Amino acid sequence: MTKVILRKSTYDYDVVKALFFETMDAIGGGLIGRGNRVLIKPNLLSPASPGDAVLTHPTIVKAAVEYVLQKGARPQVSDSPAIGSFEKIMKDSGIRGALAGLDVTCRAFENFLRTNIGEPFNQIEMAEDAINADLIINLPKLKTHSQMLLTLGVKNMFGCIVGYRKAEWHMRTGINRAMFAKLLVLIYQRIRPSFTILDGILAMEGEGPGKSGRPRELGILMGSRDAFAVDSTVCRMLGLDAERLPTLKVAREMGIMETDIEIDGAFPIVHDFILPRISPLLYGPRKLHGFIRRHLLQRPVSHDPTCQMCGECWKTCPAGAISLREKKLSFDYDRCIRCFCCIEVCPYGALHARETFPGRLIRKVIARHF
Ligand code: SF4
Ligand code: SF4
Repeated sequence: MTKVILRKSTYDYDVVKALFFETMDAIGGGLIGRGNRVLIKPNLLSPASPGDAVLTHPTIVKAAVEYVLQKGARPQVSDSPAIGSFEKIMKDSGIRGALAGLDVTCRAFENFLRTNIGEPFNQIEMAEDAINADLIINLPKLKTHSQMLLTLGVKNMFGCIVGYRKAEWHMRTGINRAMFAKLLVLIYQRIRPSFTILDGILAMEGEGPGKSGRPRELGILMGSRDAFAVDSTVCRMLGLDAERLPTLKVAREMGIMETDIEIDGAFPIVHDFILPRISPLLYGPRKLHGFIRRHLLQRPVSHDPTCQMCGECWKTCPAGAISLREKKLSFDYDRCIRCFCCIEVCPYGALHARETFPGRLIRKVIARHF
């Protein structure tokens, strides 16, 4: 049986610190020994302020650092951001300020080690700091995700793939959401953080996980030894069938999901949480796949008046599917693998995932007849 601790919280530091410490004590924080090197892995996707709900809140990162310090251990805060420098993110997010005066190492993941995560991916390069840490505290944010529906505890470990290599792995899994989910699950399994504490106090709904999403106050702090248990508890809380979350579906198929979950705390039901529209990326007869991909699949589109031509989307796109044409963004939907990294990194929220009208119609017809 896996225990999940659920508490109502605000970002008032005294409140969140007390609840964080209580949660860690309840899920086995005593494991942290004197002198241990403890990696703290927040979500540091891109430069954003706490009110954007893009990043793990600074008070939660600070509480994690203070918890590790009071155990006589050595905390390190690290991530590999999708855009922007690690330093800028630390500053804009308020984390640098929150950690001022504390004895903590803060640095981006840079060096990596090759490690085997198993079939079908085998060798993968992962942050050396993550592999060599004695213990890991995983600090995900509760956010929606245009490709994977939600980004929670399991997916937060994808940040342990260093820099541009994330794009390579997006390309390797291609236009196959289930395959990408399997990659995420295997990365999580390899790193296996000791603790996961989810920041769902100011969560994100709509078209997350970047600036296109909308902050939504839920007031939830959730912790467990097992990120699968955290993720499936979030699904229950949102009234969502866990099978709709690709990572949980894969984990269940692999037989690695603990389904016996004990909840400690009042279980809130969240009504009307807005999820991104996710449509299947592979469907219909194989001989029609090219046509379907080009004309019918959900795709990234830009809202031109909002676009500032900053170039982050085309620098990030792993497929090289975005270019500039007559001062407008142009998408090559033949190449596009629908990873929606462009939406994730757009600093202005100018990109959205849209399914074409004929796409919606034809998908329903095909689903009925094939
Ligand atoms: S869509 Fe966003 S990321 Fe791309 S160029 Fe425009 S503002 Fe920049
Ligand atoms: S255009 Fe966007 S969704 Fe398509 S491959 Fe590039 S980053 Fe991914």
